[in-house]
Amino acid sequence: MKILVSSCLLGEDVRYDGNNSNIALNPKFKFYYKELFMDIMCENEIYSICPEVAGGLGIPRNKAEIKNHSKPFVVADELNNDITINFLLGAKKALDICKENDIKVALFKSKSPSCGNNEVYDGTFNGNLINEMGLTARLLEENGIKVFNENELDNLKKFIKSRV
Ligand code: SF4
Repeated sequence: MKILVSSCLLGEDVRYDGNNSNIALNPKFKFYYKELFMDIMCENEIYSICPEVAGGLGIPRNKAEIKNHSKPFVVADELNNDITINFLLGAKKALDICKENDIKVALFKSKSPSCGNNEVYDGTFNGNLINEMGLTARLLEENGIKVFNENELDNLKKFIKSRV
């Protein structure tokens, strides 16, 4: 099955701080879970994107949070620069990849203002999480593409099984 994956989960140094969120090397995850990740990566056709880089932002970059979670969306960095257009561009590019390649599922990094699928920070930069989605995850879900995060690999595996 074709899966769109957040580049940082695959080990690419694309995060705002210049690091990555590689599941296979993250000590937070038990070995069986890393194996599950590797199985999914090896048994499927993987496409990779960092929506923020695809939207024109650099590495490293300032932390960003969503200020307005419905249209018109507003995303600002910690210096209050409005970077909404970069987030919208990155989301569109991710959707284009899915449409061009008939991708129906994504594995995205949790809590990201782009990739988060069920919670993100509230826009105050105080570390408060709320039940909202990152802008790319939202656009994919609105277009029928199921988004899982790195803590939901068991559900992703079940989803894949149900579709093959
Ligand atoms: S935008 Fe997504 S892929 Fe890029 S660093 Fe953030 S969580 Fe990772």
